[in-house]
Amino acid sequence: MYLEEDMKRRNLVPALAGVLFTLFVAGNLYASGAKGSATPAPVAAPVKKTAKYVFFFVGDGMAMPQISATEAYANALSSKDVNVKRLGFSQFPVTGLCTTYDAGSLITDSASAGTAFASGNKTLNGVVNMDVTKTKTFKTIAEYAKEAGKKVGVVSSVSIDHATPAVMYAKVPSRGNYYDIAVQLTQSGFDYFGGGGFLQPTGKNKDKPSVYDLAKAQGYTVANSVETIQSLKPGVGKVIAINPNLQDSSAMKYDIDRESGELALADFVRKGIELLQDGPQGFFLFVEGGKIDWACHANDAASAIKDTLAFDKAVSEAVAFAEKHPDETLILVTGDHETGGMAIGFAGTQYETFFDKIVPQKMSYVAFNDKVLTPYKKATPKDKAKLEDLAPAIKDAFGIDIASLNQIQREQVERAFKRSMGNEVERSIKEEEYLLYGGYEPLTVKLTQIVNQMAGIGWTSYSHTGVPVPVFAKGVNQDIFASYYDNTDIFKKLAMAMGVTVRVQ
Ligand SMILES: [Zn+2]
Repeated sequence: MYLEEDMKRRNLVPALAGVLFTLFVAGNLYASGAKGSATPAPVAAPVKKTAKYVFFFVGDGMAMPQISATEAYANALSSKDVNVKRLGFSQFPVTGLCTTYDAGSLITDSASAGTAFASGNKTLNGVVNMDVTKTKTFKTIAEYAKEAGKKVGVVSSVSIDHATPAVMYAKVPSRGNYYDIAVQLTQSGFDYFGGGGFLQPTGKNKDKPSVYDLAKAQGYTVANSVETIQSLKPGVGKVIAINPNLQDSSAMKYDIDRESGELALADFVRKGIELLQDGPQGFFLFVEGGKIDWACHANDAASAIKDTLAFDKAVSEAVAFAEKHPDETLILVTGDHETGGMAIGFAGTQYETFFDKIVPQKMSYVAFNDKVLTPYKKATPKDKAKLEDLAPAIKDAFGIDIASLNQIQREQVERAFKRSMGNEVERSIKEEEYLLYGGYEPLTVKLTQIVNQMAGIGWTSYSHTGVPVPVFAKGVNQDIFASYYDNTDIFKKLAMAMGVTVRVQ
């Protein structure tokens, strides 16, 4: 429905006559209210100013457990005292909370969660900007911003055709339609894409026109080396900047694995600001920290924490820009859902935590598989494989001394090692294999779980969970984002903050 109609319904329009309705902040504007209600919902004072520059950061899979764990870890780096070291964005002046359920489940995926905040509509898991029947498409907040004359950028640390970045520019019945999503990216007209690459640049069967060629035909410059990305200057036109150092599934590396000289998420935000800020109407820059989610799926807390720190650094680029444009900038930071059922607290450590135990972890579960386990598996017949062979590498990667594990942990690691090497284990273990390893490399997931348990971090799932996520806001119209609301309200609130007229389909 049009917001205009919603306001008419509440007899608000006469009071607002002659003023663009989208410039009004209405804390309860979207709260439920019967048609013809005698008491219209309270409406706050009009927004005096709209945000010219809007940053919208989403930590994928990032709810309070991920933020709190990162803050506890940051404190543990420099102090033995019980405390937290606050991230930059968690100190923003306004905090809200939002629900994350979608049209079919209390537990959303990134496609339906993204559709909610990008278009204001609930849909089903896996669907990007289409309704539950997969026949109707939704217009996104980024498209409205573009239409209003703003330059638009989309950045992600995972592939740029992945569900969360896709919700800003694509409409597909399935998030797995990577090629279709990429083609729609090239047709979006958006000004800047940065971060990860494409998953199926020539289609699933590698028989379609290359999306790079399609992008070039639409006027995009494709930059995919550190030098060419760094040398992009305002005036270059539309850009797709792909990190040359990709890891799994065309995503940027986990920040824990990033080597010096390689680009971080913050670099893509800084470049985006540089390229987008010359537009007379300002910009809308969407940024996803996508691998927080992936690390939590794999129950790898150290990698999730390091990616949350990298995400906070990316936000700090926006904060630095806002300091130069304080009366024109809004920064919004939230998550799309929680991942992993992460908890500060584990049965084995009861009331204590030992975050210093995850400090020695040097690489992600993916890097351990790539650098240690996969080569070992290739080189070693399974009847010759011994856990002790990997003891030095395990100590180096995770800080775990195999010899000092307690009996239960030792048995768990031995069983997981056997499964990783393709050896049979007891039937009872096989039956609960998903609960034990979640489809990941058994040895590696067991090692990260043990590090996490030693630290006092628990996990309940290899999937998402249904808890609300926090929202942090700083800048022009920050107050709109206080209180507890639904993820679809973020779309409406962003529209109000920017002063663009939107329709909720
Ligand atoms: Zn996920």
